[in-house]
Amino acid sequence: MTTQPTAAPAAAPAVDEADLRRRLAALDLPRKVRLLTGADFWSLYPEPAAGLRRLVVSDGPAGVRGELWDDRDPSANVPSPTSLAATWDPDRVEQVGVLLAAEARRKGVDVLLAPTVNLHRTPYGGRHFECYSEDPLLTARIGAAYVTGVQSGGVGACVKHFVANDSETERMSLDAIVDERVLRELYLVPFDTIVREAGAWSVMAAYNRVNGTFMTANDLLRDVLQDEWGFDGLTMSDWFAARSTVESATGGLDLVMPGPAGPWGDALLAAVRAGEVDEARIDDHVLRLLRLAARVGALDGIPGFAEAAPVDDAAVDAQVRSDAAAGMVLVANDGLLPLVGPGGASPASVAVLGPNSEVSRTLGGGSATVFPRHTVSPLAGIARALPGATITHAPGVRPYGRFSVSREEVTQRPDGTPGLLVRFLAADGAELGREERRGGAFNWMAGIPADGEVATVEVSFAVVADRAGTHHVGGSGLGDFEVTVGDSAPVSEHLELAAGRDLVEALMAPPQHVVPVDLGIGESVAVVVRHRVGSGPTMDGVDIGTMMHVNVELPMSSDDDEIERAVALAAEAEVAVVVVGTTEEVESEGYDRTTLALPGRQDELVSRVAAANPRTVVVVNSGAPVLTPWVDEVAAVVLAWFPGQEFGDALADVLLGTVEPGGRLPVSWPANEANLPSATPVDGVLRYDEGLRIGYRNPDRAMQFPFGHGLGYTTWSVDELAVTGGGVEVTVTNTGARPGRQVVQVYASRPDSAVERPHRWLVGFAAVVAEPGEQRSVPVAFAPRAFQHWDVAAHAWVTEPGTFVVAAGASATDLPVVGEVTV
Ligand code: BGC
Repeated sequence: MTTQPTAAPAAAPAVDEADLRRRLAALDLPRKVRLLTGADFWSLYPEPAAGLRRLVVSDGPAGVRGELWDDRDPSANVPSPTSLAATWDPDRVEQVGVLLAAEARRKGVDVLLAPTVNLHRTPYGGRHFECYSEDPLLTARIGAAYVTGVQSGGVGACVKHFVANDSETERMSLDAIVDERVLRELYLVPFDTIVREAGAWSVMAAYNRVNGTFMTANDLLRDVLQDEWGFDGLTMSDWFAARSTVESATGGLDLVMPGPAGPWGDALLAAVRAGEVDEARIDDHVLRLLRLAARVGALDGIPGFAEAAPVDDAAVDAQVRSDAAAGMVLVANDGLLPLVGPGGASPASVAVLGPNSEVSRTLGGGSATVFPRHTVSPLAGIARALPGATITHAPGVRPYGRFSVSREEVTQRPDGTPGLLVRFLAADGAELGREERRGGAFNWMAGIPADGEVATVEVSFAVVADRAGTHHVGGSGLGDFEVTVGDSAPVSEHLELAAGRDLVEALMAPPQHVVPVDLGIGESVAVVVRHRVGSGPTMDGVDIGTMMHVNVELPMSSDDDEIERAVALAAEAEVAVVVVGTTEEVESEGYDRTTLALPGRQDELVSRVAAANPRTVVVVNSGAPVLTPWVDEVAAVVLAWFPGQEFGDALADVLLGTVEPGGRLPVSWPANEANLPSATPVDGVLRYDEGLRIGYRNPDRAMQFPFGHGLGYTTWSVDELAVTGGGVEVTVTNTGARPGRQVVQVYASRPDSAVERPHRWLVGFAAVVAEPGEQRSVPVAFAPRAFQHWDVAAHAWVTEPGTFVVAAGASATDLPVVGEVTV
């Protein structure tokens, strides 16, 4: 298999431009302008005069959420982007896109707000998990495949966030100062490829400024995206990112989201009438909106895509499980893995330890959050795969400071069934509606479904103690909360977000109001959490609806005692599997990380367990690199990322050797925190001073595991490289005892360049599958601009004549075969 540019998008029905113009001509100015701001949080206005129905947009990228943002409308939860990129397998990722298109159509979603193709400029980035890679070529290939898959199902992809939104701190206002060449050679590359090769139907303009101008009004939208790359789709603002009327409307921004408030509307109508915005600009915005509508089948009289086939849950589960395993990266292995040897003997006992082993993270936080039908934890997956084995478990440490969102396993409704009872109450206390819910995350952003004006949301449940100790119960959100435990008097508090914090933080990690309650084993207590509707803030004049959590934290012993318990279980077991990871407190949208260390005492847990049992495997459940100071103390390390709803089953497949861990690192895994770009703006300015030297392009960074690295269950030699016309042919041999798949990577460098260059850069990759002992040759095509650089004086791509070195191998630092390309 070669890695060729992804085929042109395909299934898009040809758009009849004359028909779009006729529809546009049927609209007067007020109707046109009205269309250019969202109707609400997730939809666009219908316009019968143009034959346009309501369009629905939804996040992305690890699933399709739909208009309901909690467990009322569950979604398939596919692996998060770092995991998908770790497959280095565009064909597989295209099929993920196909799956998501079916999900979107099932949920009435026309445009998926994904993929996120910003780069891993720094591992501190809070949304690192949501971006593919530090490398623009890998990001472009994986992103293009995702878009091709999504759009082949009649659903628009919205490529985001254009551009230089590579970290979260002050994301709404920061000014990213990025050299023109750096923008062209790194940060714009994925957008360029995806727009031109995969034909994306929409693009989202980022919150931040680039070189002084907000992206919603930045020339890059019109001059580069639309005019230079020929993008004919719709650009929309990130949520609340549009600030200006005239500057943004005269530029390349077509749609302000969300609505119905915002800087356009009547202000834009007045600006057009005053001659400050040309009506031709408005027409272009509307035409682009209608073009998108035609593509997704939202215009009457235009045949859309065939009815989507019903989604088969079992097939989705199987696909997500296979994808998750394909993205897991085995970075170290002294031979312990796979646990099932050639003779078929599997371990008789396994201690499954660590805070992420029972309550794992299948996806990252923020707008990417979806609510899966089910999740499989590592503990459940390993237990299911080894039915005859003794499986023990201990969390080891409690690495988070927040109180947990309640799970249906720990609460009962007043009728005794698992979960929570929610009642919507009028000001006089009359019940206007009720919902029986599973988990404690609630989001009535689109309004509360009740017959009348709701004054209070009331959540009732009982906690039955299966262990003695202090439980904590309560609620989180913004506004007035009241918690009543048993017969005690209610305890009230007004919750507010600290000044300057990101609104998404309010959604993911809102302030909490909990009360302690001591229970003995078997004792139960009734709890009622009440929230006064409308007591929270609005955002730029838009009512953000009601979002709240119910929290239940079970008692846990001290970390010292928990570590002792984990160590004791490890010592008794044949194998210890320790699942460590990040929490939503440190890795999410709306803020960045401040350290790469695992939270809490997880490093100590790993070292202590490894000392008790040399057959210890560590599984890292994070969306971004973490420090691994214990790496030489353990037998094997698997990086699982946020692998989607089938985590535990996929992990068991990999650990037991049912499948190979297929992943290769899409990001350099640092050994320490030296020489890393900062994500923190200074006086509102974030300078991309590292220039072209991000990730493996910077040889001065200390790497624990290099970009591209990953072991399978066989071994390989890389034997030869021959330069062919548009690429190289690399010969490899499977030197091990099992069939396997290897990702052959080709990097270029230019030792005596007159131009400043990164240390080396990826110019192509291809996967090869071989049987034990088999030798295979694999062609690897060069990326179209492999040997070009951006000339800032000429504002153009140019080629420095002369000789480039091309080297191939299994990672950015393992490149045994070398050739030369003269251009
Ligand atoms: C995020 C976008 C997302 C939008 C809608 C924003 O906060 O940055 O990625 O699509 O919200 O949820």
